[in-house]
Amino acid sequence: MKFSSTYIVTLGSHSALQILKGAKDEGFKTAVVCTPKQTTLYRNYDKFIDEIIQIDSWASFPQMEKRLIKQNSIIVPHGSFVAYLGMERNKQMRVPYFGNKLVLDWESNRKMQREWMIAADVKVPHKFKKGDKIDRPVIVKSHGAQGGKGYFVAKNQKELDEKLKVFSEEKFIVQEYVIGVPVYIHFFYSPLTEKLEVMSVDKRYETNVDSLGRIPARNQKGLKIEPTFEVVANIPMAIRESMLAEAMAMGDRVINVSKKLVPPKGLFGPFCLETIITSTDEIYVMEISARIVAGTNCFIDGSPYTYLLYDEPMSTGRRIAREIKLAIKKKRLKEVLD
Ligand code: ATP
Repeated sequence: MKFSSTYIVTLGSHSALQILKGAKDEGFKTAVVCTPKQTTLYRNYDKFIDEIIQIDSWASFPQMEKRLIKQNSIIVPHGSFVAYLGMERNKQMRVPYFGNKLVLDWESNRKMQREWMIAADVKVPHKFKKGDKIDRPVIVKSHGAQGGKGYFVAKNQKELDEKLKVFSEEKFIVQEYVIGVPVYIHFFYSPLTEKLEVMSVDKRYETNVDSLGRIPARNQKGLKIEPTFEVVANIPMAIRESMLAEAMAMGDRVINVSKKLVPPKGLFGPFCLETIITSTDEIYVMEISARIVAGTNCFIDGSPYTYLLYDEPMSTGRRIAREIKLAIKKKRLKEVLD
């Protein structure tokens, strides 16, 4: 297989621009599959997008598959795949897919994710069981909530009981609210070099929780504002170097455990540990995203960390394309595709 005649394809949303720019920089052909309302955006980037494949709705995606396979395509998934296609259609996709689809089951299930993190000796927020007494602030997360929608916080048992009375969701978890700063650490694990790389770090700008501090507490009184956690944007960060060492060690353990949970390949490619760092420097992992996250969009021209390893702008999108290119050259493509 020649990489210059291979298409890197993704769905139009999330980090598609980064993925396709990176693929073009690495010498691939590129295509984006999108619905009509996104076409104008991607047309503006025809400098690095060779083909725009428009479909009426995401439900029509399976009909495109034959064409994509025929034109020698590799799909690069991102955070909107499961949301747009649904878990089953995502898993059943026949177009060669960068990543390990078996990891999706572990990523999408909070209980399994927790088992994974605990097995990797990573701190996770305490989870209260039904009937447990609440002895600290908590965050209540409804089942399948996305982007922090459908969450609420309570500072004690009394407030939790009151809020649960009017909570419409049936399935939810009650988790310790960790006081600290949220830090999102983006990694890339290469099964070809067996090396873990820190790609970049971001924090999220969430509405309205990130704006509450702008209104003094005395002015908030009576307004009945509840914090919500919907992501609006991402902000680049550089973390203390001593914390980077701990983050790397955590990332390594997460990868090692994944090889046991979903053998033999485990998790590879891009992933993100979504952490909260406390005032005592403890790093809690709220969640793992086992694919490229939107926070990497802050680093399309590289990050301070990729600058240390590469003499050229290296985004996570480009790093994925570089891995595919290397796999083609080494005739090891099967190891990175599903
Ligand atoms: P996504 O899938 O986009 O990552 P999500 O719906 O899974 O979002 P989380 O990332 O779990 O949501 O959480 C959204 C936000 O809620 C976090 O960025 C953080 O601000 C806050 N949050 C979640 N869990 C905790 C916790 N245990 N302690 C403190 N804050 C939390």
